[in-house]
Formats: sequence, structure tokens, C-alpha cells
Amino acid sequence: MASHSVSEMLPVSLLYKQGELRPSRLPPIPGASSAHNHRISLHRGDITKLSVDAIVNAANSSLLGGGGVDGAIHRAAGPELRQECQTLGGCRTGSAKITGAYQLPCKKVIHAVGPIYNQQDPAGSEAYLRSCYDTSLRIAVENNLETIAFSAISTGVYGYPSMDAAHIACDTVRKFLDSDAGATLQTIVFVTFERKDVDAYRIIIPRHFTPATDGA
Ligand code: ADP
Repeated sequence: MASHSVSEMLPVSLLYKQGELRPSRLPPIPGASSAHNHRISLHRGDITKLSVDAIVNAANSSLLGGGGVDGAIHRAAGPELRQECQTLGGCRTGSAKITGAYQLPCKKVIHAVGPIYNQQDPAGSEAYLRSCYDTSLRIAVENNLETIAFSAISTGVYGYPSMDAAHIACDTVRKFLDSDAGATLQTIVFVTFERKDVDAYRIIIPRHFTPATDGA
């Protein structure tokens, strides 16, 4: 299957104009704005097909591959990805490391290790998940990467509730784009795969990235 370029992924501003995203009926989250609507995209599909600067993998702490999106990324990248990952000495939960992308159409892969959701300690899980997004964004900026696509970290076998995870993803990205550190980032794509995450982002995005007064 052909790869998808950033220009094919519609920004939130256009999704509002086309009626594919609707304003939330719930009150906006404090700090919500329309300032970044042209820099945020929502895409449903296989992250391995995206020709962005970096894709963010939902890896495990070994960084040696696994199931879900991690397995798909390693299969599509080819065996050299595992060889490079073997040199990295793993990665702590809440952190991330960057590698080459080999046979993938993107330039780099950022491997973020999300938390296994802990119902007894939701605040602890949240801190780890926030740190995954924040660290990945910092790594992207440090490596002069301008377009970055996130998988829905931890929402698969790691069991993070989709709505809560989408909120943390949007909140962390919005705050980063609001800060000086985010100035060079052009496009952030939230990639969804399963219906539950598609639905969660359609509800949560408008609470953080509100429509502008001209509807975009
Ligand atoms: P985790 O262990 O962090 O939960 P998973 O890989 O099980 O990681 O799931 C993370 C997210 O990736 C889930 O939302 C899942 O639906 C999604 N996913 C699985 N395969 C792909 C793919 N090829 N492209 C994009 N997202 C995917």
C-alpha cells in the first residue's frame, strides 16, 4: 500500500470546516485554544504507512519489539531496526529513544515506553504517559524533526482507558506547542487505529483545540 504524506492528513482547522469534527458541548479544558488547529491532524490507519519525519512507537521497555503497533513497526522497518534497538540498552517507562526508520517511509522512529495502566494509581499512570508525549516531542525538536505522528500509546494491551489517554495526549501536546520549545514543530498527527480511539479523539480534540471564530 502507498504511503501517506503530511499534506494528505487533514488539520483540525479543515476538519471543522468540513463538519468532520464538531465543537464540544462540554466546557473547554482550561488553556484550550484554536491557535494550533492548523498544526494538529487526526488520522485513522496504519502508522507504518506515514511519510512524516518521525512516528512514535508504543514500545515496551526492552525496545526489542512486541505485539500491536510495535510489531507492525518492526515488521515494516525490517531486521535492521531490531539490530539498532539492541544497542540502546532498553528504555524506562515514561521515556523514549530515537532510531533510524530503515524500510519505513518516515525518517525516524521514536520509541516511547508507555505505562501499563494501574487502576490503583491512575495519577502515577498519567505522569508516565504525559512524560512519554513530552519526551518524544523534545526528542523530535532536538533532532530537527518537524512532523511527528503519535500512536495511541498504552491504549492497546497496556489497558489505558482511551478517553483518559486521548486527553493526556492532547493536553501534553497543546502545552508543548504553547511553549517556546514547540515553535519549530509543524505538524502533530494523532494516529488512531481502533474504533474506541477514533471515538475518543473526536470527543477530546475539540475540548483542547477549539474551533476558531471563523469556524476553522
Ligand atoms: P500498548 O502496549 O502501549 O498498549 P499497543 O500496540 O497494544 O501498545 O497499542 C497501542 C495503540 O496502537 C492501540 O491504540 C492500537 O489500536 C494501536 N495500533 C495497533 N497497530 C497499529 C498500527 N499498525 N498503526 C497505528 N496504530 C496501531
